[in-house]
Amino acid sequence: MQQLEALTREAAALANGKLATGKLALVPAETEAARQMQICNACRYCEGFCAVFPAMTRRLEFGQADLHYLANLCHNCGACLYACQYAPPHEFAVNFPQAMAQVRAVTYEEYAWPRAFGVLYRKAGATTALSLAFGLALFLVLALTMAGPVLQQPLGGHFYAVFPHNFMATVFGLVFAFAVFALGMGARRFWREVSPAADLPRGQGPLLAAARGPAAVEATHDVARLKYLGGGHGDGCNNEDDRYSQARRRFHHLTFYGFLLCFAATCVATLYHFVLRQEAPYALTSLPVVLGSLGGIGLLAGPAGLLWLNLRRDPRQGDVAQRPMDRGFIALLLATSASGFALLLLRDTGLMGVTLAVHLGIVMALFLTLPYGKFAHAIYRSAALFKYALEKRLPSRLQLGAD
Ligand code: SF4
Ligand code: SF4
Repeated sequence: MQQLEALTREAAALANGKLATGKLALVPAETEAARQMQICNACRYCEGFCAVFPAMTRRLEFGQADLHYLANLCHNCGACLYACQYAPPHEFAVNFPQAMAQVRAVTYEEYAWPRAFGVLYRKAGATTALSLAFGLALFLVLALTMAGPVLQQPLGGHFYAVFPHNFMATVFGLVFAFAVFALGMGARRFWREVSPAADLPRGQGPLLAAARGPAAVEATHDVARLKYLGGGHGDGCNNEDDRYSQARRRFHHLTFYGFLLCFAATCVATLYHFVLRQEAPYALTSLPVVLGSLGGIGLLAGPAGLLWLNLRRDPRQGDVAQRPMDRGFIALLLATSASGFALLLLRDTGLMGVTLAVHLGIVMALFLTLPYGKFAHAIYRSAALFKYALEKRLPSRLQLGAD
């Protein structure tokens, strides 16, 4: 009788998408990834490729938190697809990069704040990003048109004659604060789910505390070098076939450091404005313009290269359903840098007003959509690498000799 009641409770919970433990039931992408992990965990041929396989061997079964952690630890280098003797047409049908990519898409939605934006971005990421950029740019151009002749006048690069400084600082402050808060909430939700502290065996608290510092240094180092895009052997990852290439790693680096330099240029310009009391426009040789130009070159070359690789990529690697979302993000990065350079070139002409309006609209769209796609993966991935570096420093629960 008791068994029947327990089964009834379990069935009712499952009907509500929950397990009897209160945890959410796995969605099909997670169930499939867990199936493939059981095969990989028995095979272990790919152990040397990346952090995912050593982390997997510390487990015998894979719940939702494990799947989300391992999926974000995967950098989609593709190596384990070409190495796999159980890949299709084998009946085991193991395509591990694809399974990991599909679970990552679940995490973009699951941890997004607000979640509804995550759902919308996952379903129509490219359309949302590009229409938002177009809509905001159009709105700003129309607002300028209504404001009068400022749109056609050469203003000698004085941006604040077009949009007052306080207006720009307020609008961008709000957009930036939203992006940071949404990303922070996503990172918090992800970490609460996967944190090793959540199911730490008794007595390992001091070990975990001592591991935090060295683990943070190791994870930062791995993130900054994009270590696992080296494919585990240092020759790079796969793109269109089983040949290794460093191209993805280099284009990711150009994009990442280009973004950081552009961000640094904005911070330095803010210091110039508020601390040194120097207003834009700044000379071409000034620090904000030099940093912005170097960052802009990185943000042009990096995303252009990533788009080129994305168009040529073997469709079996990753999840083709996510390609429009990825390409939408790349297109926004490219549009940001291209419109930034156009603004630099045209700042002394009558086209400065309209170019500034378009550039600001694109930058706003980029920041508003950052928390919902590939950029969120960069945050979750950094957290996953930190967890991996922590976990390595703790004894394996299985006591089977792993690590
Ligand atoms: S991907 Fe294939 S070869 Fe690699 S560990 Fe898994 S089953 Fe083995
Ligand atoms: S695709 Fe690359 S990073 Fe992902 S699990 Fe396979 S080998 Fe590791």
